[in-house]
Amino acid sequence: MRDGFGRTIDYLRLSITDRCSLRCTYCMPEDGVQWLEHNQILRYEDILRLLRIFAALGVKKIKITGGEPLVRKGVAGLISEIKAIDGIEQVTLTTNGVALKEQLPELLEAGIDGINLSLDTLDRARFAEITRRDALPQVLEGLEAAWSVPGLNLKLNCVAQAGRASDWVSLVGLAKEHDLAVRFIEPMPIGLGGGLESCTEADIRAALEHAYGPLTSCDAVLGNGPAKYYSLPEFQGKIGFISAVSHQFCDRCNRVRLTATGYLKACLQYDVGADLRPLLTGSDEELQAAIEAAIQNKPKAHRFSEKTVENREAHIMSQIGG
Ligand code: SAM
Ligand code: SF4
Repeated sequence: MRDGFGRTIDYLRLSITDRCSLRCTYCMPEDGVQWLEHNQILRYEDILRLLRIFAALGVKKIKITGGEPLVRKGVAGLISEIKAIDGIEQVTLTTNGVALKEQLPELLEAGIDGINLSLDTLDRARFAEITRRDALPQVLEGLEAAWSVPGLNLKLNCVAQAGRASDWVSLVGLAKEHDLAVRFIEPMPIGLGGGLESCTEADIRAALEHAYGPLTSCDAVLGNGPAKYYSLPEFQGKIGFISAVSHQFCDRCNRVRLTATGYLKACLQYDVGADLRPLLTGSDEELQAAIEAAIQNKPKAHRFSEKTVENREAHIMSQIGG
């Protein structure tokens, strides 16, 4: 369906939990998070009912997120049921990779169409500093398992922080031998992300070009989103940039978000949308009307650079799903 500004909305980010096995400093505090109660989280059957309605309205692509989606039991079963919904063309997952090696066989069996693995560094001490957990070895096992699957659409997402050129260069080095996309995401000033010292796409490009030579722009758009892609000679994989703050791409936004509690978020930055959970006791028609109204009222653009914005999102990223 189209929103009030004529943008086609065909992509839903579905958060299935607020829990996580890591505590990335820009996403979640170490302590003090008020966890959702079991009964506040949508049951899989409710999620499937909602997704059937979204699919009927034109949503074709689902990204499963969290918190860390692989900490919730039964994700593979959920994926195969989502894949069976008429109109859904693609189901992908974003994960921190900690439990990926163990769960990859069942995810593949369920028909997962792609995996995004979030990883900011290949340095174990630095990883533990960023995530507050010494879990890099498990994540690398998950990554290696994933890149060993022929044809699996694999993307590695790095939240780019200032002054970390050695991390960027070593992460991109993985794309030399392996067909994966290494993507740099600008930190977003949401939740704890506001405290990050950001760096620009130009800084990262300069560091990468210093190490590997000139990047060549790839015309083909890969994936569902706003990433810009580049290639390097003799590299099997690609390099991508998602620069939501410095290169705003709201005019091409195709997505909405459904939180683990059933709140339909129309835009990442604002707390506007529709609380669908109370409506689950009613009819599909009522749910559909609430979804249509929320999408119709999707804000035109984020205003990350402004200090005072009405209805600014107050949740942390792990409660939204990224
Ligand atoms: N745990 C999973 C993961 O890490 O992929 C899924 C949830 S996580 C919230 C989704 C994505 O949001 C991750 O790639 C993470 O790096 C990104 N993220 C979290 N906080 C962010 C921030 N402040 N700015 C930009 N990206 C952020
Ligand atoms: Fe967990 Fe992902 Fe947030 Fe890191 S970014 S704390 S892995 S939800």
